[in-house]
Amino acid sequence: MSYQQLYINGQWLSPKNGQTFSSIDPSNEQEIAQVAAASVEDAELAVQAARQAFDQTDWANQPKQRAAYLRAIAQEIRNQLDALAELEVRDNGKPLPEAVWDIQDAAGCFDFYADLAEQLDPNHEENIPLADERFNSVVRKEAVGVACAIIPWNYPLLMAAWKVAPALAAGCTLILKPAEATSLTAIELGRIAEKVGLPAGVLNIVTGIGSEIGPYLTAHPEIDKVAFTGSVPVGKQIMQSAAHNVKNLSLELGGKSAFIIFSDSDLDAAVEWIMFGIFWNQGQVCSATSRVLVQQEIYPELLQRLSAAAQKIKIGNGLDAGVKLGPLVNAKQYQQVMQAIRQGQADGVQLLSGGQRPAHLPQGYYVEPTIFVDVPLEHPLWTDEIFGPVVAIRAFQHEQEAIQLANNSIFGLAGAVMSKDLTRCQRVARKLRAGIIWINCSQPTFTEAPWGGYKQSGIGRELGIWGLENYLEIKQITSYSSDQPWGWYTS
Ligand code: NAP
Ligand code: MG
Repeated sequence: MSYQQLYINGQWLSPKNGQTFSSIDPSNEQEIAQVAAASVEDAELAVQAARQAFDQTDWANQPKQRAAYLRAIAQEIRNQLDALAELEVRDNGKPLPEAVWDIQDAAGCFDFYADLAEQLDPNHEENIPLADERFNSVVRKEAVGVACAIIPWNYPLLMAAWKVAPALAAGCTLILKPAEATSLTAIELGRIAEKVGLPAGVLNIVTGIGSEIGPYLTAHPEIDKVAFTGSVPVGKQIMQSAAHNVKNLSLELGGKSAFIIFSDSDLDAAVEWIMFGIFWNQGQVCSATSRVLVQQEIYPELLQRLSAAAQKIKIGNGLDAGVKLGPLVNAKQYQQVMQAIRQGQADGVQLLSGGQRPAHLPQGYYVEPTIFVDVPLEHPLWTDEIFGPVVAIRAFQHEQEAIQLANNSIFGLAGAVMSKDLTRCQRVARKLRAGIIWINCSQPTFTEAPWGGYKQSGIGRELGIWGLENYLEIKQITSYSSDQPWGWYTS
């Protein structure tokens, strides 16, 4: 299968400058494909195609047809489940069962927004009661216009689905720019769009180097909205770039989410959810609960059990049976994570377990599940997002202290709390300053529920009805309906 063309205006086009970049299988560091590297000229073609499809076709006024396309895309993703999941593993490194889960969730996301699109009535207008009865106001919602979606590499097809599905449901047209490290399933999504007959220009897929075409797209005057998921520094650059024409903007950025474990917790459940919160997807999860606060009474016992369990995790190629921890996505991520670990050790932070490349895996970007304990509050291991299988743990004495420590972060994406006392869990959940709170678990994510962060973790919410609203404008239409002349100047 070739990945050397861009999907623009319903056609597969070679990049104008003929450039490609290589996509690597992180389990063996071997190239799996050459991928088209769009130039700004190609990006311009994509913008024009999306603009034309929005301005000159009836796409925005046909929610039932849009729903049918979304449903067809969901079905085709399911038809190709095995192939897409395997491709995701080879490109990203994650264990196959996780990739299967992602692809199923991506299909589910298209179905969910198909349902919402079906319920959209382009003629629906809500009457707004006005105190001044000489006027009548109605409110309607309309598609924002041309959207540009820029996504990361940790959940390649799923992150595409989280943006493409609601944007198309709302009646937008769009340009999707996948992450360099994992462009392959996004290109497959283009083939699926073509197969189900999605009208030309509605979805354009432009692979390429983010630092080259990203600024061009995010500043482009013909783009109405940018939806971005990725790092905080790039998110800040995009805000500046989008300020050019005051674009509608939604950002899903990083996190350093806290997991508070009270002493009445079941220790086996605590070990399981702590590990799921930080080792799932190799810890390359924006909402990972990478800071764990454990109440003093159970701290020694829990650390001992956690370390023993973490050392039993099977590490290897994501395609091999029983593997629960694959390689990190690429050399850059591997070096960054290793650098954070080495810095922690050099600064004397106590390493409880892990911290190495596994001895039996000399090739590939593998890092052992790594646990640092008694991590100082000012240390980067406690404050900074590492985006790898590295957890920082501390003890706490009482509830107030745990809440204060959890909230002491520039991020506010997620948080979690565990205790048998559900009243306490509910109380703590309401005090944590973050957009997603889990009680007695960490990470489960649902298409129906809002996703996004407080503070530097982002702006806006994806998923659920909120995901659709992201791509809708609100318009008021107000009529003067009195028989009396207005008469301000003329009477
Ligand atoms: P990144 O460097 O911010 O890249 C994200 C996307 O932005 C990629 O498609 C990238 O393209 C593109 N990009 C790079 N520079 C750009 C620019 N100047 N203008 C426009 N686009 C640009 O992040 P990453 O390294 O891929 O992902 C890791 C980070 O993403 C972590 O910090 C993590 O917290 C965050 N993340 C957050 C969420 C969430 O839901 N909040 C989810 C996943 C990841 P290239 O790939 O070509 O560089
Ligand atoms: Mg790759």
